[in-house]
Amino acid sequence: MDFLSLGKIISDEKESLEFLRSRYNKRIHCPFCKSRQIYIMGSRRQFRCRKCKKDFKPFAHSRFQLVKIPYSKWLALVKLFELSVSALVASEQTRTSYKTTLKAFGIIRLSILEELAKTDDVLRGEIEADEAYFGGRRKGNRGRGARNKTIVFGILERNGKVSVDIVKNVSAKTLLASTVKKVKRGSIVYTDKWRGYDSLMFSGYRHMSVDHQKRFANGRVYINGIEGFWSFAKERMMKYHGISPDKFLLYIKEMEWRYNNRGYNLFDLLIHYMLGVEYT
Ligand SMILES: [Zn+2]
Repeated sequence: MDFLSLGKIISDEKESLEFLRSRYNKRIHCPFCKSRQIYIMGSRRQFRCRKCKKDFKPFAHSRFQLVKIPYSKWLALVKLFELSVSALVASEQTRTSYKTTLKAFGIIRLSILEELAKTDDVLRGEIEADEAYFGGRRKGNRGRGARNKTIVFGILERNGKVSVDIVKNVSAKTLLASTVKKVKRGSIVYTDKWRGYDSLMFSGYRHMSVDHQKRFANGRVYINGIEGFWSFAKERMMKYHGISPDKFLLYIKEMEWRYNNRGYNLFDLLIHYMLGVEYT
C-alpha cells in the first residue's frame, strides 16, 4: 500500500473500516443473531446488522481495541511505523498525543514479538553466529567492558533467516545453549575466533572460525552475513535514542522481523497482526 492510496482510505473513517474488513479473512457475523449481513456505520465506527438492526463493535478482539482512536488514525500510525518514523514525528503527523502514539507503537512491536514467537524455525545448513553490543558509550572488550551494554547473540542462516536473542554473557555455556535452541545439529557454524565458540565442535556442529586478521584467507569462511545484519539493526536503532533495557527485546526483535521480511509488504503484514488473523 503506497502513501497516496492509503491517503484516500484514511481520509474517511468508513473507508478505513472497509479496508480493514477487506483484510479480515474471517467471517464477520452479528454477535446477537449470527447473521452475516453486516454493514458499516462509518459515522459511528460500528457495524450494524441488517437483520436485527443492532450495532456492534468491529474486530472486538483485535489489537486495535487496545488504543481507542479512529481506525483511520490507526492505519496512518501503522504506515508510519512501517516507514520507521519515530513516535514523536508520528504523533505530530497524525495529530495524536505523544503518549497515545507511544502506546500504539508499543502494541505494534508487541504484536511482532508475539507473531515471531508463534513460529519456531530451526536454522540449518551454513550458519553464521556472532554477538553484538548495544547501548552504552564506551567500546569495551568482550566480557569485561561490556557492562551497561546489552549483548545480543545473532544467528544467520545463509540465504535464510536471522534470529536474535539477548544473552547475559558470552561464555561458552551461554553461546552453546543459544545455538542448540536455534540451529540443527550437523550444521556448519561460522564464527569469529572468540574462544566462547570453541565448544561448538564438540556438540554436534562443524565449526569454522574466521580470522579477521587474515580477512580474505578462505572462501566460505566469513561472517559477513550476520555482520550485515548488525549494521542493518544498528543504523535503524540509532534513531531511537535511549531505549530502556526492559524494552530492548521489543526493538531488537523488530529488527529481526524487518530483516527477515524485507521485500515483503510490511504494512499488510502488520495489519494482519493487528487484526489477529492469518496473513493470506
Ligand atoms: Zn443481528
